[in-house]
Amino acid sequence: MELETKCIQAGYDPGNGEPRQIPIIQSTTFKYASGDEMAKLFDLEADGYFYSRLQNPTSDAVAAKIAALEGGTAAMLTSSGMAAVFFALFNICSCGDHIVSSSTIYGGSFNLMSVTMKRMGIDVTFVNPDCSIEELNAAFRPNTKVVYGETIANPALTVLDIEKFANAAHSHGVPLIVDNTFATPINCRPFEWGADIVVHSTSKYMDGHASVLGGAVVDSGKFDWNAHADKYPGLTTPDDSYHGVVYTERFGLEGAYITKLTVQLMRDFGSTPSPHNSFLLNLGLESLHVRMQRHCENAQKIAEYLSKHPKITWVKYCGLPGDAHYEIGQKYMPNGSCGVISFGVKGGRKAAQDFMQRLRVASIETHVADARTCCLHPASTTHRQMSDAELIEAGVSADLVRYSCGIENANDLIADIEQALAGLEV
Ligand SMILES: *Cc1c(COP(=O)(O)O)cnc(C)c1O
Repeated sequence: MELETKCIQAGYDPGNGEPRQIPIIQSTTFKYASGDEMAKLFDLEADGYFYSRLQNPTSDAVAAKIAALEGGTAAMLTSSGMAAVFFALFNICSCGDHIVSSSTIYGGSFNLMSVTMKRMGIDVTFVNPDCSIEELNAAFRPNTKVVYGETIANPALTVLDIEKFANAAHSHGVPLIVDNTFATPINCRPFEWGADIVVHSTSKYMDGHASVLGGAVVDSGKFDWNAHADKYPGLTTPDDSYHGVVYTERFGLEGAYITKLTVQLMRDFGSTPSPHNSFLLNLGLESLHVRMQRHCENAQKIAEYLSKHPKITWVKYCGLPGDAHYEIGQKYMPNGSCGVISFGVKGGRKAAQDFMQRLRVASIETHVADARTCCLHPASTTHRQMSDAELIEAGVSADLVRYSCGIENANDLIADIEQALAGLEV
């Protein structure tokens, strides 16, 4: 099936007389005829549902759709994107381990690694995504377990050279995790370029209507954990909490990573999406391919408009010829990147805030990537915990406005920006 068909059809295939739309199985638990049957589920000897903290049929159907869109072997939904990012890393890192990450990543993910996971004894080295191969290789240590980056970084909008990062990761015997939230599988499928695991904040384009928080972790099934068994004992040696099951032996390379994520991390941390939220996410996925096209068209028009405006000092959008990431954007996303652009307003921090207040169609929100146009000043909101040096390293300057183009008519959005800029005293 092509991507467009997968958006509609993948993940759920009803039998004769069954509901056409994915049923919302709004139940915490599932009934069994005997305790023995349920015991087999607890020992991972049989496949089935017993408690929705671990697995739920509605959520599983939607996870299967996302796995199909990314071209992966298995996926799991989480209650937020942050839970997906944390689980994806923590599934293969523990105390004493080390992460190599692109420095231009989502503020929440940056904080997770640099503060919270550090407190758990997991170290991180941030590298500029545009660094040389030598600089990238120099970031690895003997205890490095994973490499991390974002296809299109939020909010820096740098484009990750997935092949460069995947090759470096693999030459050190570790997998590459890519956060594909902004590009979505419609515009980029990181597995095709060597990434091993993909994470999503489904709260963004996948839901697309700013209705439900959610996340997803998808496994390509390609990383050979057994070839680096000493690095990943959690996958390749017995799990005492399941009577000694070895995930790679029991579930194979295509199922080991997601099974461990589900039966260990979901069991113990419980960041489970509600079945109703999974249903709403699926409604979003059904139009993802149609919406992405319009988001990208609008962003292209607005980026071109802004790049010619005298009150705009710079525009960052990889669809603009001349952008530092234009060529790499064309390589990985020839059909369009995303609807988010960033730019600087003449006059710096204060002018940026003043400009945003004058917008009437676009609203000020801590959100991006939904049907309605919105904007944000990261330096005073999502990234306010960062020092000035960290802000620069993360690709976020004080004058940066992040503008997320919705799927309204582009002329209305441009007229809105025009009147806001006209009102600015510069
Ligand atoms: C929003 C976002 C996250 C976090 O997702 P939540 O659903 O808000 O928890 C992670 N990565 C990227 C790229 C994001 O844009």
